[in-house]
Amino acid sequence: AVIARVDAVEDQVNSYVTLDKENALAQAAKVDAKIAAGEKIAPLAGIPGAIKDNISTKGLRTTCSSKMLENFIPVYDAHVIKNLRADETIFLGKTNLDEFAMGSTTKTSHFGVTHNPWNLDRVPGGSSGGSAAAIAAGEAIWTLGSDTGGSIRQPASFNGCVGIKPTYGRVSRYGCVAFASSLDQIGPITKDVTDAALVLNTICGKDEMDSTSLDVEVPDFTKALVNDVKGLRIGLPKEYFGEGVDAKVKAEIMKAVEKYKELGAEIVEVSLPHTEYAVITYYIIAPAEASANLARFDGVRYGYRNVDATSAPEMTTMSRTEGFGQEVRRRIMLGTYVLSSGYYDAYYNKAMQVRTLIRRDFEAAFEKCDVLLTPTSPVPAYGINDEMDPLTMYMLDVTTIPVNMAGLPGISIPCGFADDGMPIGMQLIGKVLDEATILRAAYTFE
Ligand code: GLN
Repeated sequence: AVIARVDAVEDQVNSYVTLDKENALAQAAKVDAKIAAGEKIAPLAGIPGAIKDNISTKGLRTTCSSKMLENFIPVYDAHVIKNLRADETIFLGKTNLDEFAMGSTTKTSHFGVTHNPWNLDRVPGGSSGGSAAAIAAGEAIWTLGSDTGGSIRQPASFNGCVGIKPTYGRVSRYGCVAFASSLDQIGPITKDVTDAALVLNTICGKDEMDSTSLDVEVPDFTKALVNDVKGLRIGLPKEYFGEGVDAKVKAEIMKAVEKYKELGAEIVEVSLPHTEYAVITYYIIAPAEASANLARFDGVRYGYRNVDATSAPEMTTMSRTEGFGQEVRRRIMLGTYVLSSGYYDAYYNKAMQVRTLIRRDFEAAFEKCDVLLTPTSPVPAYGINDEMDPLTMYMLDVTTIPVNMAGLPGISIPCGFADDGMPIGMQLIGKVLDEATILRAAYTFE
């Protein structure tokens, strides 16, 4: 049924970079046989999902939606892929993204733009736009995204889906092509909170191959799916409701607040005073890490190579110039600049200090509440042809970026519609490793 849906709508939506229908059907047949034989299967066994194309899948092309990796076939599976395979889930294919996950629209993909299934003239958000659009269009039952500054939550909100960015370290990043290593985290995009919990159960856990993955117990996240927010203290950070937030978005979030009150939650106003510095700090730290991570794409070890160059340095220069798109090159240059000698202390070190202040803001707020509630994005999905300068677009991530800076878990769930019918999302932010509470609050609202 999912393949039939792909056949019917993929021409218009373009969620996928690569489809692997034959393998998907073969995998489904295996699970069918197990069921017929009365064997026990995992909860996600046989359920077709799709993987953001910056997550390594052995034998299946992994492009990061870049010309640089257009023909790259990995020789190993990401940790999350290994886990999902062990559960006999089905991978229907690899989903479209902004090149190397840098962006908020999926428009910077080398493989064409993805369209928002709710209105094909709108962006699906990004960078996991393909993963969210696939869910909204019925082209997959669950998908994986990655979130460095909002790339799971923002597209989930633009497409009326559920998306969760786990606590930094909850999920191994092994096999997720690194963008900004201290911020990246893999997570699910799904139709509802229950499905998100099921995927989390499979992908979380300590992995020897990622030194930042946490050696902590993984709870059964489905146990958190309880309809009860009585006494839960929900904090509204006042900085997230100011200028720049669309009036209808604010109105729908406030309706959600009323609903939580009726359900017995306690609403408290809190302040995260360093919010205004989060985006500018992110655009120092993330490009700095990206410039180092993307140095490996040198025309020698991976991917695209210019064959006309007459010397090794020229070959690397030309391969990188031709293999990377404009936004990726912009970030590499930004990152190299802020890390260069003389500027390192002024920019990078300063940004790291501000990052600490942002984290402390959250710690102080969580003394007064159990979860924070905010809009996922200040605006709903905008026009696919809207011209936006990079800075304006960067600023729209103000609601999601601080969560990555502090390493916290955050979930986006649907919460009403804009006047033009586009979905609006609300974000619940939890304490470190407290995915359970945001799942419970989301489940109760849904
Ligand atoms: N939109 C943000 C950026 O362009 C976040 C991207 C992400 O989370 N991968 O960097």
